[in-house]
Amino acid sequence: MNLEGKNAIVTGGSIGIGTAMALDLARHGANVAINYRRHADEANAVVVEIEKMGRKGLAVQADVASTADAEAMVKKVVEEFGSIDILVCNAGINRDAPIWKMTEEQWDEVMDTNLKGYFNYIRAVAPYFRDQKSGRIINITSINGLRGKFAQSNYAASKAGIIGLTKTVAKELGKSLVTVNAVAPGMIMTEMAKQLDQKWIDLAINETVLGKLGELDDVAHLVTFLASDLAGHITGQIISVDGGQYI
Ligand code: NDP
Repeated sequence: MNLEGKNAIVTGGSIGIGTAMALDLARHGANVAINYRRHADEANAVVVEIEKMGRKGLAVQADVASTADAEAMVKKVVEEFGSIDILVCNAGINRDAPIWKMTEEQWDEVMDTNLKGYFNYIRAVAPYFRDQKSGRIINITSINGLRGKFAQSNYAASKAGIIGLTKTVAKELGKSLVTVNAVAPGMIMTEMAKQLDQKWIDLAINETVLGKLGELDDVAHLVTFLASDLAGHITGQIISVDGGQYI
C-alpha cells in the first residue's frame, strides 16, 4: 500500500488507536495531522515520530466538539500540506452509567464528542473532497454500536449514529468518488479500556472466538488499507476488527 503524496487528518491522535493509525498511515507514505484535547506532550511526540519517517506531521489542540476548531484545523492542514485526501474520525470518549443513573452531562458530552465531533470534521472536508473528486473518510465506531452494551446507552447510541452517518455520507459523496467506511473494533487495550473493571475485560476476552483482545495495529492496518487505492470500490461498509467478539 502506497500513500506517498497523500495528506491525512486523524482526530484524537495523541494516544491509543489514533496514534497507531497516524503512525501506520505515515509508515505507508502519508503526511499526517492529528488533534487532541489534553495530551499535548504525547501529541508532539507522535509528530516527531512521523517526521522521523520523512513525512510532514502536525499536532493541533482542537476540541472535536467545536465546529469552529474543526473548520480552522482543516483549513490549517490544507495551508500547510497543500491538500487533504484522508480523514480518519477517531476521537471518542465514554462516560458509562446505567440509564437510570446517567446524567444529562454524561449523555451530552459523549454525543458532542463522538457524534457531533465526526459531523464537524466530515462537513469541513466535504467541500475539498467534492472539488477534487476524490477522498477517503474512515469513521471509527464500535461493536457496541452494533449490539448495545450495559451502562453504555450514550456511547452505543453515538456509535450507532456513526453507522447511519457513514452510510448516508457514502451515498452523498459517492458521485464525487469519495469512499466512506466505518471500522468497528472490539475491545482493544487502550487508556479507554483500562478504566474498565477487570471483569469486563475478562468478559470481552471470553466473547472473542480467537480468545484474545486485539492490538492497536489490528485496527490501524485495516484503516490504512481503506485509505489506499486498493480499497477504491469499498464504500458505505461497517467492518469489524474484533476477533469474532460480536458474531
Ligand atoms: P483513548 O482514550 O486511548 O484515546 C482517545 C483519543 O481521543 C485521544 O487522543 C484523545 O485526546 C482524543 N479525544 C478525546 N476527546 C477529544 C476531544 N473532545 N477533542 C479532541 N480529541 C479528543 O481511546 P481509544 O484509542 O481506545 O479509542 C479511539 C476510538 O476507538 C474511539 O472512538 C473509541 O470509541 C473507539 N473504540 C475503542 C475501543 C477500545 O476498546 N479501546 C473499542 C471500540 C471502539 P486527548 O486525551 O489528548 O484529549
